[in-house]
Amino acid sequence: MSTFEPPIFELAAPGRIGVSLPACDVPTTALPAHLLRSDELNELPELSETEVIRHFTRISQRNMCIDTTMYPLGSCTMKYNPKINEEAARIPGLAAVHPLQSAALSQGALRLMYELQHDLGEISGFSDVSLQPAAGAQGELTGILVFKAYHADRGDHARTEILVPDAAHGTNPATAAMVGYKVVEVKSDDRGNVDMDDLKSKLSERTAGMMLTNPNTVGLFEEQIREICALVHAAGGLMYGDGANFNAILGIVKPGAVGFDFMHYNLHKTFTTPHGGGGPGSGAVGCTAALAPFLPGPLVGKTGSTYAWVTPAKSIGQVKAFWGNFGMLIRAWTYIRMMGAAGLRLVSETAVLNANYIQSKLSDLYPVAVDRFCMHETVLKGQIVGAPGVHTLDIAKRLIDYGIHPPTVYFPLIVPEALMIEPTETESKHNMDHFITIMRTIAAEAVANEDTLHQAPTRAVVRRVDEVRAARNPILRYSKPVFEAYYAEPGHHTV
Ligand SMILES: *Cc1c(COP(=O)(O)O)cnc(C)c1O
Repeated sequence: MSTFEPPIFELAAPGRIGVSLPACDVPTTALPAHLLRSDELNELPELSETEVIRHFTRISQRNMCIDTTMYPLGSCTMKYNPKINEEAARIPGLAAVHPLQSAALSQGALRLMYELQHDLGEISGFSDVSLQPAAGAQGELTGILVFKAYHADRGDHARTEILVPDAAHGTNPATAAMVGYKVVEVKSDDRGNVDMDDLKSKLSERTAGMMLTNPNTVGLFEEQIREICALVHAAGGLMYGDGANFNAILGIVKPGAVGFDFMHYNLHKTFTTPHGGGGPGSGAVGCTAALAPFLPGPLVGKTGSTYAWVTPAKSIGQVKAFWGNFGMLIRAWTYIRMMGAAGLRLVSETAVLNANYIQSKLSDLYPVAVDRFCMHETVLKGQIVGAPGVHTLDIAKRLIDYGIHPPTVYFPLIVPEALMIEPTETESKHNMDHFITIMRTIAAEAVANEDTLHQAPTRAVVRRVDEVRAARNPILRYSKPVFEAYYAEPGHHTV
């Protein structure tokens, strides 16, 4: 780790080559002068294939990822991505289909999308599904644009507010604000539910809708979910379901049957398509028949045995180029087929059991935010008795030293020193016991010497990053002298 590994630019030398092209066997013509580059090409490294592969493989091995370590990042559902998904996505007839190919020549791809629309609708209790949005956040934007179009279509222009609980993910209020709504915050009560009195006091003829995550971001099931939906509907508003936590209730609760009007699915969370740096996401959306005419198109429809692109009558328009992130749709379809209905229910039952196991094994050292059975994730607090100077950030950094990706920290915002742990159903008891042992070891280390945690990570390639300096003095482009000066400072390993 401390040995100097020159970055790829330093490895380069003129004449090192990674490709060999065959001799040209067609006539050549000179390019017009105005198309020719006139200045020098600087800093484009010349390297052999071996060197390029080693460079990128080395960098990739320094990442923490779900294929190398438990990744209990709460709210993000970093579950294992089955490799059969990758095999399906690489079937040439699917991988090589061109987005501009006609529907007649893309029947297999359209069938897959049609079936996925159907399956997601069935799992969640919605009649209609659009696969277009590329992420949960874009699904939210789609949903709130649909709410706006729905109210406008009824000639109801007085609704200017969207209600959002104080525990919500930041994308909820951001979405409502982007669509031009005023965000009205609703408080949580002592049990971690929406405070019903506060909700009632904030509903009015100005309410366009409410955005709600269930289970919520404290990992708790909203016990009055039916009443909440009924109250919002009685006020003339619509219910948006943030489906990021769908992994807790598959096959158990259908949001459409409980009173939600619209919801997004994070295919990259619940349905095992790669997440974050692993690839593009998919934030497919489902809704009731009343909102279906406003969905972004095109969707896939079926007449007889023929699949075709259809755009809903009052569609808000297209929200993503072409047909959404098709590669993700293949993976999600494959996952659903592999699991089956009973398998999906078992996913949620196991995810909930795993989170409660961890909660019960750690709550004596790390206080639980709300003392209840949790759903698929538990929110603890990084407040260790006997180590008052240790914070959640220190615990997270120390986990890296033990080779485990930290949980989500400082979210939800309403829980001080929040440590949000989501093991998912794909961790074995053995792995969870390892995590629990490490968390208990870290608590003991904190009590013995707080500095052990303050200095963490000490075993990682990159030490604790100076976030203030990074923000004030960002180095956005490679430069040899700056690089050398930085790594000459004590405590900095080379990268
Ligand atoms: C992940 C998440 C989102 C946003 O989803 P993206 O796909 O990351 O845009 C919204 N709400 C909650 C609760 C989430 O966990």
